[in-house]
Amino acid sequence: MRKKLKWVKMGVRYSSLSLCSPTHQNHQSFRLATFTCDTKQKSNFSFYPTDKDRIFNTHYRRVSLFAITQFSICGLHSRIGNLKCGRVKEMETRQGIATKEALNLQSVDQDLVQKMVYDALVWSSLHGLVVGDRSVQRSGKVPGVGLVHAPFALLPVSFPESHFREACELAPIFNELVDRVSLDGKFLQESLSRTKKVDPFTSRLLDIHSKMLELNKKEDIRLGLHRSDYMLDEQTKSLLQIEVNTISSSFSGLSCLVSELHRSLIIHYGERLGLDSKKVPGNSAVIQFAEAMAKAWTEYNNARALVLVVVQSEEHNMYDQHWLSSVLKERHNVTTIRKTLAEIDAEGELLPDGTLLVGGQVIAVVYFRAGYAPTDYPSESEWRARLLMEQSSAVKCPSISYHLAGTKKIQQELAKPNVLERFLDNKEDIAKVRKCFAGLWSLDDSEIVSKAIENPELYVMKPQREGGGNNIYGEDVKETLLRLKKDGTDEDAAYILMQRIFPSVSLTFLMRDGICHKDHAISELGIYGAYLRIKEKVIMNEQSGYLMRTKVASSNEGGVAAGFAVLDSLYLT
Ligand code: ADP
Ligand code: MG
Repeated sequence: MRKKLKWVKMGVRYSSLSLCSPTHQNHQSFRLATFTCDTKQKSNFSFYPTDKDRIFNTHYRRVSLFAITQFSICGLHSRIGNLKCGRVKEMETRQGIATKEALNLQSVDQDLVQKMVYDALVWSSLHGLVVGDRSVQRSGKVPGVGLVHAPFALLPVSFPESHFREACELAPIFNELVDRVSLDGKFLQESLSRTKKVDPFTSRLLDIHSKMLELNKKEDIRLGLHRSDYMLDEQTKSLLQIEVNTISSSFSGLSCLVSELHRSLIIHYGERLGLDSKKVPGNSAVIQFAEAMAKAWTEYNNARALVLVVVQSEEHNMYDQHWLSSVLKERHNVTTIRKTLAEIDAEGELLPDGTLLVGGQVIAVVYFRAGYAPTDYPSESEWRARLLMEQSSAVKCPSISYHLAGTKKIQQELAKPNVLERFLDNKEDIAKVRKCFAGLWSLDDSEIVSKAIENPELYVMKPQREGGGNNIYGEDVKETLLRLKKDGTDEDAAYILMQRIFPSVSLTFLMRDGICHKDHAISELGIYGAYLRIKEKVIMNEQSGYLMRTKVASSNEGGVAAGFAVLDSLYLT
């Protein structure tokens, strides 16, 4: 479900590359991302590796390596200056649309684009902005085999600073909301009771949840690594939520790199582009997620315990996941293991005190990067594994109740009048959350169903699914609603209806497979949130970085992994 090279005519300018200022204002993201160093500031930079900051050290090493490579490639580059490493392919599908980007891409000359394309491709390869290449057979299973750059936008998309702040401020509120909703087992069960009858997948999740309620299972350590997604509605200029992801919120690793890629390109080409690299906000999602996980691991209090990453048997987005594992290891000395649900079923064991063992090793934290889609459970074996983990004392990210709290049906229930008030106390928070809710309806609302049949292009129909590619748009909304009406069964309970959001369209350079496409595109902003509560004490409740995804305006769906979108960052206006 859920996805992010550049030299310039740098030559000598690369001496500034030694980077690393401990006094840099955005120290964290700087550390992570190696190259934010403005050449103009180089005289102020120095480097002090410390034991405390192992990742800093690691990245320093990478930078040194990079610097060396850089100088040699630099010479090469100047010799092969006319080499076209990436093609710019024009695919302007929507002419004449007002573009609002800070940068008018129409005015950027082809030569400059070619240079940036080349630099961006090199940068992404050297910095791990990569995914498995689907055309290479073992690329989804074996790390280091068949890597390709992650799809990304060549330059960041303009986004109003006020709306970015608004989205950031919502993150801790949504973190708290998810936690509160997850505590109300009756609300979850009742809200999903009609869905349960027609959706076998949701039904299985609810069965596990019921079992936990029967056991009166308490989760003392509650870890949430969420991402709330938004689009900026062009007409009303309002920030509207698409959904909140409580399971497998992806791209915390790669999104940071895209922000750094964009900064780096702007540092090198900013003058010619008329852009300022400081307007790309710092993004330390992976560091913050790793910190939340490490804190949960510490609370579990077993120095030998591991973090278990639950994975799909084939995963082309594995490097995004490895980034998180790597930061956990480098910065917190916490080790992760990766297992599929089937492997966990085969190797997992529950001790009488609730300790989860996998392959004989104690698991402190279970981090799900699989388990959100029916296809992740091809047999009873996978469901057994899910139940086993849920019954254990390991910290689940997410627990079954956090998972259910993030379903689309619950999103729709929360949008009903007076429901938010059941879970949040602060009136201002309630107002902020409500403001970002788009129209959301259940299909038992016959008035809205009639309206959607009349104007299907104004709605999106959503089943209880995650991972992209499941929603229904346009004429298909009409057809499906008419069919459901005719059938008169309960199948309508499998869906919700949502107001379709129309964000502004801007001209973008989209990079995929080394090819640059110029097209009109729309963007979706995801804000990460990390939450950790130990019994009654909230240890962490933070906005934790961001993800921008951009897709061609003519495409309905937004998934990067699913092949619809590219990773992006933002340029504050
Ligand atoms: P999933 O769980 O599959 O990610 P989403 O609700 O996020 O489901 O929908 C997938 C994609 O469809 C989004 O990333 C977005 O691009 C598009 N989308 C979803 N809801 C809307 C909406 N209300 N208006 C416009 N586009 C939408
Ligand atoms: Mg989504």
